Amino acid sequence: MSKTRLQPRTVMADENGNIYDAPQLLMVCRRGGQWGLPRPDEMLPLPPESKLFLLPGRRAAGLDPQSGRVTCLPESAVAAFVAPGHTLSAHPAYKSDANAPPLPLFAYGAVGFADGRFYVCARRVDTDPRQQFQDIPPARIEQNVRRLLRAYPGNRLISHILNNCVLRYACPAARNFALGRYEAPLPTQRACNARCAGCISAQAANSPVATTPQCRLSFSPTAPEIVEVMRLHEQRETRHPVYSFGQGCEGDPLMDADLLAESIRTFRDGGGRGTINCNTNASRPEAVIRLAQAGLTSLRVSLNSARDSLYHGYYRPVDYNFDDVRRSMREAREHGIFVSLNLLFFPGITDTEDELAALARLVGENGVNMVQWRNLNIDPEWHFTMTADAAQPSPCMGLAAFMKRLKKLCPWLRYGYFNPWLGEKAAITAPIPGQWGMPSEVTDAASGSHGVTV
Ligand code: SF4
Repeated sequence: MSKTRLQPRTVMADENGNIYDAPQLLMVCRRGGQWGLPRPDEMLPLPPESKLFLLPGRRAAGLDPQSGRVTCLPESAVAAFVAPGHTLSAHPAYKSDANAPPLPLFAYGAVGFADGRFYVCARRVDTDPRQQFQDIPPARIEQNVRRLLRAYPGNRLISHILNNCVLRYACPAARNFALGRYEAPLPTQRACNARCAGCISAQAANSPVATTPQCRLSFSPTAPEIVEVMRLHEQRETRHPVYSFGQGCEGDPLMDADLLAESIRTFRDGGGRGTINCNTNASRPEAVIRLAQAGLTSLRVSLNSARDSLYHGYYRPVDYNFDDVRRSMREAREHGIFVSLNLLFFPGITDTEDELAALARLVGENGVNMVQWRNLNIDPEWHFTMTADAAQPSPCMGLAAFMKRLKKLCPWLRYGYFNPWLGEKAAITAPIPGQWGMPSEVTDAASGSHGVTV
């Protein structure tokens, strides 16, 4: 007996923020410039610890199954901000008012209602529970914060992570530090040599983005302060400690390679165990080599696309280009560093033939071992309009198919969402740069021929 196809209904909100469904209309979602019904394989019950957002100045839309026409409603559109560990495969479909304000820097997922519950267009890409806090009483976190602040009165970095990141922003990485588990954040840098359109810690004065979700660090910690944070975390996370430079509340950590190299070397020389990771725009290959020699374990490279035009259009690099980023990856691989991509996935732009060809080449030729499937936190309409010039219109295949086809081209690739614990020195499966050749059936978008037959 065939399973009846799930047919979620449109979700909307009234002016008081009450959210309800429109039983007469089918949910419609958006991928880039395309509107359509959600694919059966992309509907996920809304995960715990997700949030629903009312979208100001945007009218909800749905498909009338009788007429087959899309109808816009006077009520507001609603989106889902999905819990960590999940990647969105489609944005909500809505009609924006002429004077609709830009949406803040969050990721907006298409959400519908069926069988008494909310469904979101998303995929769980990591089962690691590190950013699940529903079973931890907030009082326990606060208690730890107070105790650690008393124990380390002179450490400005501990004070920043606890007072600012935990108590002000409830940052998941900072809360884990307070709890002494999983991955500890090591923010160090105020400057950055990129000007990302969706930077969550600093925006240009003329940016349409009103406010950033985070404020940047206001000081530069010293190596002893950083090492003290690492040692404290090592004492409490005794199984699989991970320490990560490059957090949402800072610029790019490679701007001060001296500080990072000294901190890493001091920690390692003192017998420091665990995975030391650096989240970065990877703009400085020389700095990457120095961190590798100091004892770094893994490098996570943030990017919105493997296509030069889209990368430059979003990152707006100041003193580097995408070739520098590629070289950083190769240097890292050649120095035994586990390279991950922090891929800022955007439905309708990422899951396309052109991106698949470019990404497979980037991964294969530069020693990439893992893709972390993240969501680009940005106003979908604004970003699509901004990118449309740089991106040739290309049919999109959906997140699931894109992940499957990339894996087929690069079978060693690991998938996830979080920085994995790898011990001090990772076992690397990615080919050494220069030892991998693009499968003949893959044509590179740059060479003008489109389509990947896999
Ligand atoms: S690389 Fe990071 S800190 Fe720099 S502009 Fe981009 S998002 Fe902001």
